[in-house]
Amino acid sequence: MTLVETMKPRERVLNALAGKPVDRTPVSNPTNVATVELMDLVKAPFPEANRDPEMNARLAATGYTELGFDSIMPVFSIIQESSALGCEMQWETKDNWPTVRMYNPIWSGPEDVHIPQGFWSHKDIVVVLKSLEILQKEYGDQVAVIGKSMGPWTLAYHVFGVEKFLLMSIDDPDKTKRCLDKLKEISVAFALAQIESGADALTFPDHATGDLVSGEYYRKFLMELHQEMEERIPCPLILHICGKTVDRLGYIAQTGMAAFHIDSKNDPHEAMEIADGKIRLVGNLNNPELLYSKNPEDIREAVFNCLDAGMNLIAPECAIPLATKLENLLAIPEAVKEWHKTH
Ligand SMILES: [Zn+2]
Repeated sequence: MTLVETMKPRERVLNALAGKPVDRTPVSNPTNVATVELMDLVKAPFPEANRDPEMNARLAATGYTELGFDSIMPVFSIIQESSALGCEMQWETKDNWPTVRMYNPIWSGPEDVHIPQGFWSHKDIVVVLKSLEILQKEYGDQVAVIGKSMGPWTLAYHVFGVEKFLLMSIDDPDKTKRCLDKLKEISVAFALAQIESGADALTFPDHATGDLVSGEYYRKFLMELHQEMEERIPCPLILHICGKTVDRLGYIAQTGMAAFHIDSKNDPHEAMEIADGKIRLVGNLNNPELLYSKNPEDIREAVFNCLDAGMNLIAPECAIPLATKLENLLAIPEAVKEWHKTH
């Protein structure tokens, strides 16, 4: 049997996110798929490709033009907003993501949280909006263009410091909630600006990760807040939380978000059962041990396992290691097409 593709990648991704029928399961990473090899290919290396709109769009487009994925996602890092809020940055070099220097937090409580003057004209905000415009214009009729707005929990790590914020959540849950309430306005504002600039969907990373925060914490601090995000941001949202998350997936499924980007620490069959059709699942392909270290045959097997479980979109679990071999990434859409020939 041959696989007949009747949909454009854009329709395929948006249908899958909405739980509607697709001609085949889309390949769509809600986070970064740029690699050093791709940076060399289009002459758009880190860190500049995180800050220059033309370079950023050029590198992001390779996810579609070179890898054959069904979506393009130009926000390679998790620092764009935090940089514009005034956090101290470590820009790194070509083989590493930029990070926020969290030992020197800029704020200490809810009264400090605000969008500073110059935020919207800051280089690290402008790059995202301009790049989305470029990509929507060039590829928007073919491919899903996905933006990214960081959730308040992640922003809190950056502006208050991880340790201080986690201590605050134990000592003073009310203050913690007030912080999140103010920070969420930044998440919403940046999300709306990206939709205006052409984003078809948005990744919403909010790192209440399995190793730092319990499932009960998620329910207490984030479940309702994420429901509110879903109501206020008028495009499909893909929640991203790393680590083992099956203990909170039942809560996540109640947020109304379109999809959840899930880590390989969770079994896809178990996760699909908990999601129970209330939220779509994407991700699960392991980065360090699989995509970075193994070969196309191993990747094929892992992709088949996700498809057998009924995962709605196929993707790496998170931003891929920048030194990942192209052949391993190319193996993902190849395996999806092969699987569909017999299913
Ligand atoms: Zn992640």
